[in-house]
Amino acid sequence: MSNWEKADINNAKHVPPQKYTWKMRYAMTAGKIRRFFLGHFCKNKVQEFHDLRESECARCGACCKLLFRCPHLIVDDQGYYSCNIHTKRPVNCRIYPLDQRDIDERDMVAPGTKCGYRFKK
Ligand code: SF4
Repeated sequence: MSNWEKADINNAKHVPPQKYTWKMRYAMTAGKIRRFFLGHFCKNKVQEFHDLRESECARCGACCKLLFRCPHLIVDDQGYYSCNIHTKRPVNCRIYPLDQRDIDERDMVAPGTKCGYRFKK
């Protein structure tokens, strides 16, 4: 068992990997494609989304487990996640989350925890 898996199991903030339904997989796949498209071709729209974003990342790592666990995800002794290519991470990761739709996808991965970000109504 890797240190990542031990930390996941030992830290109450984190939930074990979920069994995804096809509906969940579809939503997560569509979300990745949407973020890729917006992040590469609609930078103004991304800025509009981010203008409505408040607070900050809680380092729960849930968005790094959408569909699959990112191989660059690492966890410290306190159970806080980080990225081992943070300064070179892909656009999809840089812009996440854009809106509540992204948060809803993330909640499929870790329904017992909350993303640190929220959005103005
Ligand atoms: S789900 Fe939200 S709080 Fe958790 S790592 Fe991603 S951006 Fe940060």
